[in-house]
Amino acid sequence: MTNRSPSAWQNGSWRITKLDKPWTPKKLEGPKEKKVAVVGAGPAGLTAALRLAQRGYPVTVFERLNLAGGMMAVGIPEYRLPRAILNKEIENIKRAGVEIKFNQELGKDFTVDGLLNKSGSKGGFSAVVLAIGAHKSRRLGIPGEDLPGVYHGTQFLKDVAMGKKPDMKGKSVAVVGGGAVAIDAARTALRLGAKKVHVIYRRTREEMPAWKGEIHAAFQEGVQFHFLTNPVGVLGPEHVTGVECHLAKLGEFDASGRRRPIPIEETEFEALNSFSMPTSSSPPLARLRRLNVLPTEALRSHSVGRAPSPWEPIWQRARKGSLRQVIWH
Ligand SMILES: Cc1cc2nc3c(=O)[nH]c(=O)nc-3n(C[C@H](O)[C@H](O)[C@H](O)COP(=O)(O)OP(=O)(O)OC[C@H]3O[C@@H](n4cnc5c(N)ncnc54)[C@H](O)[C@@H]3O)c2cc1C
Repeated sequence: MTNRSPSAWQNGSWRITKLDKPWTPKKLEGPKEKKVAVVGAGPAGLTAALRLAQRGYPVTVFERLNLAGGMMAVGIPEYRLPRAILNKEIENIKRAGVEIKFNQELGKDFTVDGLLNKSGSKGGFSAVVLAIGAHKSRRLGIPGEDLPGVYHGTQFLKDVAMGKKPDMKGKSVAVVGGGAVAIDAARTALRLGAKKVHVIYRRTREEMPAWKGEIHAAFQEGVQFHFLTNPVGVLGPEHVTGVECHLAKLGEFDASGRRRPIPIEETEFEALNSFSMPTSSSPPLARLRRLNVLPTEALRSHSVGRAPSPWEPIWQRARKGSLRQVIWH
């Protein structure tokens, strides 16, 4: 449904002219009797619903939020994906015969069994497609992570998208991570008026998973990058006042195919800031289990627990307050 390239909008490859005119996707097969329920109105759910509707199935999408689009609507910032374009595409999908029911949460308002029941107000479906997404902020597991002023990246972007913008005017912001969420969070913080935005990443620029064009744009906008730098503690005590970091070097290759950052001794320093946003995300296994849905093999591989981290001694020292600190201004 969407072009994967984040800069597609900027370089004009979005087909805006086509989207400008209301458009009804073609019916490919005749009407069918069996009804299908899709849970989640993100790109996966909407695409599944569209394809099913084109093949003649009556489709109902159940979405827990009051808007459709999933992470395209509440994750990817508006400056990268204008909502007018997104909403037009969603309208096109609805015209194909897809019905979307909002404020309907699986596990709270209905169950998969209920959908598959022959009777009942939400029953009568022959199949259910689960497309509830796989974004969940992963905790860093460092001291001070729960202090007021620490946001998790996807939640921060969701809050901003839904109009709950934190006041960042004139503040320094540290963003932890090197993926798309980190860069989106950093550039969004700038747009909210932050005085300085620091991206703290434990590997080098080359290893950053974020799109190169986005990293380049962030550099150009004045985001300050700190590579080979690992946060070991968030400073307080009542509200975040800084982040303690440790310099790293790259060691052996790890399971992700990238060289593992390992700590350099005696090079700790502190980054002065007012907000801090860890941006790693992982599939919501606990949520899937709660909903009684078995994770796929790909998801299951995330459940094997973490290998002992070479950072653990540093975290322990941070917990004991014994790190030497250097301050950024
Ligand atoms: C900040 C950010 C930037 C990104 N940038 C890009 C990019 O530039 N290009 C790109 O291709 N990809 C990008 N991605 C990734 C992309 O957004 C995801 O791959 C995509 O949204 C996944 O689609 P999905 O439908 O599987 O899940 P989601 O988009 O997460 O949608 C899941 C939907 O299910 C709903 N839901 C969840 N639980 C329930 C429940 N219990 N009951 C009912 N409904 C439920 C959610 O509210 C949501 O609407 C980005 C992601 C993020 C977070």
